[in-house]
Amino acid sequence: MADRYLHFTGTAPGRFLSRGLGLPRPAPLRRWTLETPSLDGPLLHLTAGDSAHSDTLGPVLAATGLKVTARAERPVAVVLDATGVSTAAGLADVHAALHPVVRSLAGGGRVVVLGTTPSPEDHHQAAAQQALEGFVRSLGKEIGRGATAQLVRLAPGADAASAGSTLRFLLSPRSAYVSGQVVQLSADEPGEVADWAAPLYGRTALVTGAARGIGASVASVLARDGARVVCLDVPQAQEELGRTADRLGATALPLDITAPDAAELIAAAVPDGLDVLVHNAGITRDRRLANMPADRWASVIDVNLDSVLRTTDALLTSGAVNRGGRIVATASIAGIAGNNGQTNYAASKAGIIGLVRSLAPRAAAEHGVTVNAVAPGFIETKMTAAVPLLIREAGRRMNSLSQGGLPVDVAETIAWFAQPASGAVNGQIVRVCGQSLLGA
Ligand code: NAD
Repeated sequence: MADRYLHFTGTAPGRFLSRGLGLPRPAPLRRWTLETPSLDGPLLHLTAGDSAHSDTLGPVLAATGLKVTARAERPVAVVLDATGVSTAAGLADVHAALHPVVRSLAGGGRVVVLGTTPSPEDHHQAAAQQALEGFVRSLGKEIGRGATAQLVRLAPGADAASAGSTLRFLLSPRSAYVSGQVVQLSADEPGEVADWAAPLYGRTALVTGAARGIGASVASVLARDGARVVCLDVPQAQEELGRTADRLGATALPLDITAPDAAELIAAAVPDGLDVLVHNAGITRDRRLANMPADRWASVIDVNLDSVLRTTDALLTSGAVNRGGRIVATASIAGIAGNNGQTNYAASKAGIIGLVRSLAPRAAAEHGVTVNAVAPGFIETKMTAAVPLLIREAGRRMNSLSQGGLPVDVAETIAWFAQPASGAVNGQIVRVCGQSLLGA
């Protein structure tokens, strides 16, 4: 499972060879640890054009814990407020702001451009704001050295505070493998976190498929953030599930998520209701369509999509998901780009994207609940370790960070969606893929 090439290019001969042969040179990513919970260096706050947020954004940025400045020799993060850019000519201000500083950004640094929703009534404003998307996605591809670039769109008229939890996440080591993403915030009340050392304190979270892999990491990160966690997995995985739950001080719930009474059994296991529901369980049964029997098709659709629809509906309508709740589903870049031999899997994961986009506004209006999804790219798990070497290597390198992600990268993204302060993050599909070339 280990990425030996990443370690090799960190050695002197590895650096020499990879540079000489023009091979990818992945930078080791700095992820969250107890000792290094935040980025190390100043945050440069820049503005392009006239912004309505020049007074309110400062305190939001300061809340990240980074030292906010208007000038820095070697910033670790740059936030460009481009919400006021509404014409093609105004894009010159974006260039003028970032061109002089991009080279001085520290390795593993972050660029976040703040924009606003492209307007359906003003095509000049829409063109300028949409332009920011192409800009950020290109910057993510060229910036290198483990740095990332994202676009965060504020809803028209929304306060900069709506971006608080999102900026905290994107401007931290927790988002190390997230790049080239566009996050559209809503005008909904963002909500608050009482103690950022334990943002999920007092909340109950249930993670499906939590015995191993990404699900076990999600359970671990949610527990780290203070949640009471229920780990669900199939009865056949009970031993592994028990070990994972014990390690985290969590509760184990052996249950097949496709069982007809799954939602009732989940509700019974959380008598005070659920605050965070993470649909992570997933299977693959790969075959090209011409060779795919109906049972392989059906099992993938049932586990990855239909059970998510059924349990979400039942838990929402029965009131088992508390107000302020967070539902997070797991898509995949295969659901965006498609994949050879995965018509069933890609259909199920694209279905998740459809579910999230449609349900999110209604879930917020009717239940005060947000619905989002992660779309992982190549993540180093047992599943991807089994992929043949050449395909595995291609999967690892074909992204802006030239490496695979770790389960914790997906888990950190889910933990951001799960926060009580992420009420303005709704209906989003965020790829955790190092800006994979697939489906980009
Ligand atoms: P994994 O196979 O290691 O873990 C999946 C877990 O889900 C297992 O513990 C399994 O027992 C459980 N599960 C399967 N069917 C279940 C059911 N009916 N009821 C309850 N639990 C069930 O997979 P992973 O790599 O950790 O993937 C987790 C999720 O992330 C999946 O939805 C997968 O499609 C998605 N994903 C993974 C990658 C990757 O690179 N690993 C990429 C994109 C998306």
